Amino acid sequence: MSRVLVVGAGPVGLSAALALRAHGLEVTLLEADPEGRTRPGSRALFVHRETLQLLDGMRPGLAAEITAYGQTWHTKRTLYRGREVYSRTFPPPTGIPPFTSLRQVDTERFLLAACEDAGVEFVWGARIAGVRATPDEVALTDEDGRVWTGTHAVAADGARSTVRRELGIPMEGTHGDGFHVVVDVADIPGAELPLERVFHYEHPELGGRSVMRVPFTGGFQVDLQCRDDDVQEEYGTEEAVRRWLPAVVGEGYDDRVLWVSTYRFLRKVAASFTDPAHRVLLVGEAAHLFPPFGARGMNSGIADAAAAARAVADGTPEAVASFAALRRQAGLFNSDAAGTALEHLRPHRRIVRVKQRAAAALAPVVPRCGAWLEHAPYGPRHGSPAAAGRKY
Ligand SMILES: Cc1cc2nc3c(=O)[nH]c(=O)nc-3n(C[C@H](O)[C@H](O)[C@H](O)COP(=O)(O)OP(=O)(O)OC[C@H]3O[C@@H](n4cnc5c(N)ncnc54)[C@H](O)[C@@H]3O)c2cc1C
Repeated sequence: MSRVLVVGAGPVGLSAALALRAHGLEVTLLEADPEGRTRPGSRALFVHRETLQLLDGMRPGLAAEITAYGQTWHTKRTLYRGREVYSRTFPPPTGIPPFTSLRQVDTERFLLAACEDAGVEFVWGARIAGVRATPDEVALTDEDGRVWTGTHAVAADGARSTVRRELGIPMEGTHGDGFHVVVDVADIPGAELPLERVFHYEHPELGGRSVMRVPFTGGFQVDLQCRDDDVQEEYGTEEAVRRWLPAVVGEGYDDRVLWVSTYRFLRKVAASFTDPAHRVLLVGEAAHLFPPFGARGMNSGIADAAAAARAVADGTPEAVASFAALRRQAGLFNSDAAGTALEHLRPHRRIVRVKQRAAAALAPVVPRCGAWLEHAPYGPRHGSPAAAGRKY
């Protein structure tokens, strides 16, 4: 039977491998890191309903496993300069929840176990360095000179994709100034914070910077939006975080900081999601980079993976070309949507701040204004014609 190669065992590569197995294809997954590696931090937390549905299609029961472990909260709150402008508690969902929140490392743990169960062949410690795609097959070579061949290769080797570079496909887009700080904090057992997502615009004790708290199983992530002229030493080191964190979550978390990372705002989409021979398919961060608002990175990467597996199962160059065109359009839509969210969160135009201030003032009497403040940080959700009615 023909074999398909997948490069990279991040969440997107693992999903691609699982989806290919669901189509009955033999899969070899090549990963640069050694088996049993430790992956850092919470990173992408949200697994949205559409993604859970896709994963369940790849491996029935997987959505239930992931949601049983993750956290779904029913309360969302928004504050503006210390005052609540939106709060809503939703009834618990029936069936697959709208999202579940867990650390990316945990999502990867579930995906890895599912792949092993589904019979994906893993080669750890295989750092791909060369790609040769012909109309008949693709050959991948690693740094040690080992060669693997397959009918197709799905490249999920992340933001610095070697496969994409070897194919000479450039990334197109922009990178913004400034950064935000991502902090993982462990819960205090017995004194957990309320299970709710809180977004605070222009926090008065953080010099007017906006900050968000998002729970995950075992703790929570705090995201601080820094200004363009902020320096990392003042906000983005562990020492700095210990200084400003009490303003957000109260005292007692000094020794509970698990991970601190800074994140820059890149909005880039590959010029093409495939090679001229239509043997290599780019997915996930190998194909696009978005700011994290709206949780588009991993979720859209998993949508890429499902679409790539369908195209490979079809096997025709036309199916691969169609995958590449549609997922690139979806990537451009997501990039624009993340750009809209970014402009709301880090307004460069005074009018945006004025609108936000006016909405906050009106929120107690015009609930629509509070709802706008609540939803805007994540960008538009619908409207991607390329994604055929899907969010991503
Ligand atoms: C510091 C940091 C913070 C983040 N924070 C957030 C956040 O708060 N919210 C959010 O939504 N997203 C966040 N992200 C982004 C999120 O982690 C990505 O969207 C997600 O990891 C993309 O998955 P992927 O599988 O495409 O790529 P990756 O997870 O990067 O996986 C790529 C895999 O390919 C392997 N690989 C690389 N090169 C090769 C090679 N040559 N040969 C073989 N294997 C190779 C790598 O070892 C890795 O296992 C963050 C990312 C980082 C780095």
